[in-house]
Amino acid sequence: MATPNTPRLPIYLDHAATTPCDPRVVEAMLPYFTEFFGNPGSRNHQFGWKAEEAVDKAREQVAALIGANEKEVVFTSGSTESNNIAVRGAALMYEKAPANSGKPRGHIITQLIEHKAVLDPCKRLQKEGFDVTFLEPPKDGIITADMVKAAIREDTILVTLMWANNEIGVINPVREIGALCKSRDIIFHTDATQWAGKMPTDVEKDNIDLLSLSAHKMYGPKGVGALYVRRRKPRVRLTSLVDGGGQERGFRSGTLNVTGIVGLGKAAEIAMREMDQDGARLLKLRKKLEETIVSQLDSTQINGHREKRLPHLTNISFGFVEGESLMMACKEIACSSGSACTSASLEPSYVLKSIGVGDELAHSSLRLSLGRWTTEEQIDYTIAKVVSAVRKLRELSPLYDMHKEGIDLSKVEWAHH
Ligand SMILES: *Cc1c(COP(=O)(O)O)cnc(C)c1O
Repeated sequence: MATPNTPRLPIYLDHAATTPCDPRVVEAMLPYFTEFFGNPGSRNHQFGWKAEEAVDKAREQVAALIGANEKEVVFTSGSTESNNIAVRGAALMYEKAPANSGKPRGHIITQLIEHKAVLDPCKRLQKEGFDVTFLEPPKDGIITADMVKAAIREDTILVTLMWANNEIGVINPVREIGALCKSRDIIFHTDATQWAGKMPTDVEKDNIDLLSLSAHKMYGPKGVGALYVRRRKPRVRLTSLVDGGGQERGFRSGTLNVTGIVGLGKAAEIAMREMDQDGARLLKLRKKLEETIVSQLDSTQINGHREKRLPHLTNISFGFVEGESLMMACKEIACSSGSACTSASLEPSYVLKSIGVGDELAHSSLRLSLGRWTTEEQIDYTIAKVVSAVRKLRELSPLYDMHKEGIDLSKVEWAHH
């Protein structure tokens, strides 16, 4: 293989963590810091009107991206907040039995590989007297409508399942699950943070009642997002978590982040226009990336369902290398590893663990996520870097030697000291 040209380093392949802001987004935002700085709640002067006009436009842009009515878009500080308002707000509004009645307050269905911004609100509700079913995904990482159906109870009030997973990119059959929930009069929320702005979304056809999205995962600014709240068939109500000035139909009080909202709107508009083209280009690059790596290195595996995945993301485990050494050897490539840094230690990713990836392989995994400005040159460099790093590390590995000699390592009895 020819040595690829060295692109500017480091190379950013962590778009699932956050994306750079599109310069067109920044340009749209700038006037709202200084010239049009008004509070959209100021109804009696031009400064307020100008700001309100900008927020209205952004609301239409976000609504258009997901097939909603603009009245159904609630601006928030990002997906963490959207998820909390949706999950906690719906549970408290639709509870079936009061707290301390001895009966569960209601039943919620979610799954083990949701983002913490869904899992933790669910766990808190559990402590407060709700029953929560955490569905266990199979090896491919996908929750089917049948799995949800089997978990539904008489007192199920909410199903919350992500559209696409942030670590392995697998896609849940949202439309089917939404239809099931609709037929049982159960509120359906989806965390679409990794999906919205990348893949086509239609809250009507997809049978969604509540949907979370975030600007900084789709080339907009950090600290702003939206929650879609269905207004008809059914009209979804939520108990508010933050009370105050009653902005955003009372779902989310607080002076609106006008610049951020303008940025989110612009990001949505661009995404809608360019997602097909971006997605097709990135799918080609991702295929090249993973197919070349897998063909040049044995003992590697791609985590999650092979087809039902986002086009721009791959999660690969490398056998016989140590996770931290791999990250060190690839430090010009900015990506995520299968280790989560907790305060005490390096824990293997709970997502990989939940789909049956062993601790060792989870630690030696890389999540590579491509974005709007990823080039073929960067991908070629990444391939060469990862392949040579893994080969070098394996040269130092006695386990890899044994594996090469045909020894079945799972049958070896290790001496413990
Ligand atoms: C990034 C992410 C979040 C959190 O979004 P913020 O806007 O950063 O709060 C929630 N869910 C998923 C799936 C994510 O990828």
